[in-house]
Amino acid sequence: MAATNPFSKLISPLFKKTFTNAVNALLEDTAATVPCKLIYSSGKYESCPNCLINPVTGKSSGVYNGSGPISFSTNQCPYCLGVGKKEVKEEEEIYLMVVWDSKKWMQMASTIQNPEGFVQTFCNIDKMPKLKRAKEIYINTNIDNYIHAKYVRNGEPEPCGCCVGDEAFIVTMWKKAG
Ligand SMILES: [Zn+2]
Repeated sequence: MAATNPFSKLISPLFKKTFTNAVNALLEDTAATVPCKLIYSSGKYESCPNCLINPVTGKSSGVYNGSGPISFSTNQCPYCLGVGKKEVKEEEEIYLMVVWDSKKWMQMASTIQNPEGFVQTFCNIDKMPKLKRAKEIYINTNIDNYIHAKYVRNGEPEPCGCCVGDEAFIVTMWKKAG
């Protein structure tokens, strides 16, 4: 007689629901997640707070204004790179499960060939609008004093689930960007 799989016929709709609930519990803010800061583009711009602006061109004059965050003596402002204005960024903190070890990443459609410099996050699908809107993230703001690493989203967030047809979660890949 062939060996039988003890798990066979065990995967009922109730079992799927239980498993999804268990993963959702892990994803609660105080469970296996860390706070991350999402950065959104606002489409709004402000004058560069770091350099003197040429009133005719509206661009940077290439001279430090004496009060900005990054003093410079070259002729290009390092804050706005000569543009004279910076986009106003909006930010929001959300809790995500963060997977640093590439061997534990979920398989995504957009396979990463070189995992170095990448990190994957995992969360409930209800966060999809936020993750689609955010282009940048600061991972684990609990340790922001020690590591202040910016990541940019690599491709679109992908739905996934414990079972096919039950996409309750999303997985997102981020690439280090300074
Ligand atoms: Zn500037």
